[in-house]
Amino acid sequence: MYGLSEQDLQIQDRARTFADELIPLEVQAELNGGDLDKDVVAGHKARARELGLVATNMPRELGGGGCTSLQQVLVQEQAGRVTNALGWVAATPPSWLPRVATPYQLEKFVLPTVRGDREECYAITEEGAGSDVDGIVATARRDGDDYLLSGEKWHVTSYNSADYAFFQGKLVGGQHDGEHAMFMVDLPSPGVEVVRTPAYSHTISHHHPIVRFIDVRVPASHLVGAEGDGMSFAYEWFRFERMMVAARCLGGAQRLVEEMTAFAAEREVQGRPIAQLGAIQAMLADSMTELFAARSLVYETARGIDRGADVKVQHAQCSMAKLYASEMAGRVADRAVQVFGGRGYMRENVAERLFRELRVERIWEGTSEVQRSIIADQMTKRGPRCLA
Ligand SMILES: Cc1cc2nc3c(=O)[nH]c(=O)nc-3n(C[C@H](O)[C@H](O)[C@H](O)COP(=O)(O)OP(=O)(O)OC[C@H]3O[C@@H](n4cnc5c(N)ncnc54)[C@H](O)[C@@H]3O)c2cc1C
Repeated sequence: MYGLSEQDLQIQDRARTFADELIPLEVQAELNGGDLDKDVVAGHKARARELGLVATNMPRELGGGGCTSLQQVLVQEQAGRVTNALGWVAATPPSWLPRVATPYQLEKFVLPTVRGDREECYAITEEGAGSDVDGIVATARRDGDDYLLSGEKWHVTSYNSADYAFFQGKLVGGQHDGEHAMFMVDLPSPGVEVVRTPAYSHTISHHHPIVRFIDVRVPASHLVGAEGDGMSFAYEWFRFERMMVAARCLGGAQRLVEEMTAFAAEREVQGRPIAQLGAIQAMLADSMTELFAARSLVYETARGIDRGADVKVQHAQCSMAKLYASEMAGRVADRAVQVFGGRGYMRENVAERLFRELRVERIWEGTSEVQRSIIADQMTKRGPRCLA
């Protein structure tokens, strides 16, 4: 199905095997604040590497998988079948970085990240600037051979495990005054402090603290690309991440469809399986149908990227993929809880966990409302025919 090549099927199979190995540990993680024993996590990282599931998006010459976009989707789809972010060990470092990184940055940041020796986090969003990234007020001011970075960043995912952060700020003074710039900041660094670590709906080991940067001194060699480039990286990264969000949503929905179908076949009410009840059948059928539609959309979008589609078309199609797959997965999770009845409200049940976990897929990497406005914008600028 879906016209996958032999190589596609092989990597999909390896990723599925890995996901199946992680699934038995979900409830333990759920009941333990998302954490597993350090050695167990180290084992998962090693296993993901051994199976070729890490840095699938990075070039082979840098030690990455050099996979096609479709293959990257196939891997992340399987990671999405697993709850509590246990599948995140199949990590994808920023693929836009090698093209702009200096030899120093390649050695210090890129290569160790691809090897799994370093881990990054992203400090972009602020209290007053999420959807509207241009609204950030964090600053970057040149001071001799250094820059001084200041600002308060929200929802900095994986700050607790990362050892460097991408920080986006607006330049103060100089030729590019008011434009965006991005920096890599080693963690810990003097002047970087956690304001607080709020609790979120999901239970995962990656925290999302609010982090304050107070006159953090970084050498100019940590500037990514050139002054004024910051926003272009964000857009490229958004395209990639939106595809991967869509892929993980397919995996979450697949897991739910399988689990609720099996439960509906087995659970009997008044002497017959609930799978024979019209109301339950409607929930199963709608879920399967929407999953098929979403998967077709996501795979075709990935193939378009592999064929080198126009970048604006890619941008809008990645938005469509994320919008539809995340909303589809949310509807499937809601139905799955309903099919499971009271069991579906128990934290030990996969439907309960995915119901909470999938909710954020409609928010991060651009909300559904933002995706709709990107799509509609391209429709009016380029005509609907370009997009589908
Ligand atoms: C768990 C989690 C992890 C995250 N991790 C990171 C991270 O690692 N690094 C990072 O930098 N950020 C991170 N984020 C931030 C995330 O990207 C933002 O939350 C998201 O982009 C939305 O921004 P906001 O929260 O400021 O919402 P707002 O922008 O305040 O939006 C509020 C509402 O207004 C709507 N809205 C806003 N603008 C428009 C518009 N133009 N048209 C129509 N409707 C609009 C939105 O859709 C939403 O419904 C994370 C968020 C969460 C929840």
